[in-house]
Amino acid sequence: MPPEGWLVTVRPDGWCTSDGVATDSTLPAHRHRALLLRREAIGDFEDPGPRPLPDPDPLMRWGRPALLPLSSVMRVQTDEPVLSLTYDDGPHPEQTPELLDVLAEFGARATFFVLTDAVEAHPEIVHRTLAEGHEIALHGIDHARLTAVPGREALRRIRTGKRRLEAVTGRPTRFYRPTYGALGLTVAGGSRALGLDVVIWSAWARDWADGPVQEIADRAIGALHPGAIVLLHDRTDDAEAEAAGALPTFSRAEVTRRILTAMRAGGYTSVPVGELVDRHRVVRSVTVQRPRVLRR
Ligand SMILES: [Zn+2]
Repeated sequence: MPPEGWLVTVRPDGWCTSDGVATDSTLPAHRHRALLLRREAIGDFEDPGPRPLPDPDPLMRWGRPALLPLSSVMRVQTDEPVLSLTYDDGPHPEQTPELLDVLAEFGARATFFVLTDAVEAHPEIVHRTLAEGHEIALHGIDHARLTAVPGREALRRIRTGKRRLEAVTGRPTRFYRPTYGALGLTVAGGSRALGLDVVIWSAWARDWADGPVQEIADRAIGALHPGAIVLLHDRTDDAEAEAAGALPTFSRAEVTRRILTAMRAGGYTSVPVGELVDRHRVVRSVTVQRPRVLRR
C-alpha cells in the first residue's frame, strides 16, 4: 500500500495525491497559474453546484515541482457560466452526426476524445467535427485499459495513436484522456513529453450505463458548475460494460439536447477544453492508479 496521509489518499481503485504548481519549463505559461488541489476538494462528479474551491494547502507547496508533471486538468476556476462538454469513445457513424446536429442547433462547441481506430474508419466525421468548431483530442487507439499493460507499452500506444490521429486531422493534438480515466505513473509523467496534457473531468452523467434519457441528462444537469469539464459519450465502445451486459441503448443526441436546454436556461455556454484552459485558471489534481502488479 502507498503511504496514507495528507499527501496520498488511498482509494478503492488506486490512490491520488494533489497540489503542486508548475516549475516545468515545457509547460505553457498559463499552467504556471494552475491551482492544484486534492481530488476530494474538487467535489463529487454528481454534486450540484455551486462548488467553491478551497485555497491550496500551504503545507503541500513543497511537493509542487514533483506533483505538477503528474497532474491532470479537472476543471477551471471561474464564476462565469462557461464549461466544456466532452464526448469520449467516438466517432460513431450514427450517434456522432446526430450529436453534432444538436450541438450546432444550440451553438455549443465541445471536445471529442476519440479512438484512432474509429477515426480512421470514419475520417469524414472527424473533418466535419473540426469544421464546426469543435476540438478533437486523443482517447486511445482503441478502448484498451492502459493500466493493464506495462507503462512503456502504454506510452508507445499513446504516441502511435497521436501520430495516427494527427495524420487525419492535420493539426497537433493537445489533450489526452486515458480510457476509464485510469492513469499509471509512467503515462502520467510521460504524456507531456509527447506534447499531451491529460484531461479528466469534474462532472459526469454516468452515461456508460443504460437508463431513461431524462434520468441520465438530469445527472449531468445537477452536476453542472462554472468551469466544469463534463464527461459524456457519443459512442459506447467499452468491453467491460459489454461483458457486464449493460450496454446503453438511449439516444446520446437526445441526452445532450436536454442538457443544452437546461444550460441555455441557466445561461451556460460550452466551449472546447482548449479555450476553457487558455482563458481561465486551471484546476489540476493528481490521480494515479497503482500498477496492477502491486494489487495482487
Ligand atoms: Zn472511454
